[in-house]
Amino acid sequence: MKRCVIVSVFCIVCALLLPLALGRSIPESAPAPVSGPAETLSPTASETPAPVQQTPAPTPSADETAVITVLVGGQARQMTLAEYLPGVLAGEMPAAFEEEALRAQAVAARTFVLYHQVLGCAAHPEAAVCDDPSCCQVFLEEPALREKWGDGYDTYWARIQEAVTATDGEYLTYEGEPILACFHSSSAGRTENSGVLWGTSLPYLVSVDSPETAEDVPNYISTLEVSPEDFRDTILAALPEADLSTLPPEWVGESALDSSGRVAAIRVGGLAVPGTRMRTLFSLRSTNFTLEWTGRSFLFTVTGFGHGAGMSQYGANVMAQEGSTYGEILSHYYPGTVLTTLA
Ligand SMILES: [Zn+2]
Repeated sequence: MKRCVIVSVFCIVCALLLPLALGRSIPESAPAPVSGPAETLSPTASETPAPVQQTPAPTPSADETAVITVLVGGQARQMTLAEYLPGVLAGEMPAAFEEEALRAQAVAARTFVLYHQVLGCAAHPEAAVCDDPSCCQVFLEEPALREKWGDGYDTYWARIQEAVTATDGEYLTYEGEPILACFHSSSAGRTENSGVLWGTSLPYLVSVDSPETAEDVPNYISTLEVSPEDFRDTILAALPEADLSTLPPEWVGESALDSSGRVAAIRVGGLAVPGTRMRTLFSLRSTNFTLEWTGRSFLFTVTGFGHGAGMSQYGANVMAQEGSTYGEILSHYYPGTVLTTLA
């Protein structure tokens, strides 16, 4: 397994000012230097400049010293975590969310990039992460955020920055390594097991309760109506072995649900089609759906939004509203992980 250095570190040079008090505290009785008239070098007490304070250069934060490579608009750019994370947080979570939810998201986003900094990403080996949300994480810069937030820019930017700086350098580890900190918008009661999604079960990406409801989440329940012609065309284009030679009411059978309540597989045209496949084929908001024949069309009713693995963002916001800290939110959605700080 390729092992890379996690972060690069800037070298900070602290230049100390040399003492500048030479001759400036000369008492009035002292002999005048030969280079100038005495009166100009004999200031009164009130005119004597105060000794220069030697202020050490501020120590850079962990996020300011960690350099990563990000693919932005197809261009690989180097930037620090302090430069990168606010643009992720601003794009991935509503800035009006509770501060503890924003902090949890900041840690998840930081962890996500550190994980890929170690293991790389096959889609773009030249950069740890990209700005495509279907691959990595959204990354928005100031012009886009000013357009997104309008008059609320200063307020929202301050909230985002606070969440990043309050969690400076913090990320999640499992057995000492950064975790794959997946997150999604909302779940329907429970999050999803990673094994269902990707075939590999990660011990910290297991199904847990998630508290959000339709009262907390916009468009929590969505519907999609599909004509029998479009349904048949879509299925046969992807699954030509499906038998849709009968009448439409007979095309769809029972669904098998997984332990999180999502569709593991559904019978379509005599085939067991995975819920994840159906989600992709019909651009469903999640795999938590029902499918019924209404008499004239097929109707999907979908709950929640996203793949369902890891932290639910709306669930995190509800937990924060109920008093949970970002550490509690993270340990709930990523069980068994440890909140660690960059050295
Ligand atoms: Zn990517």
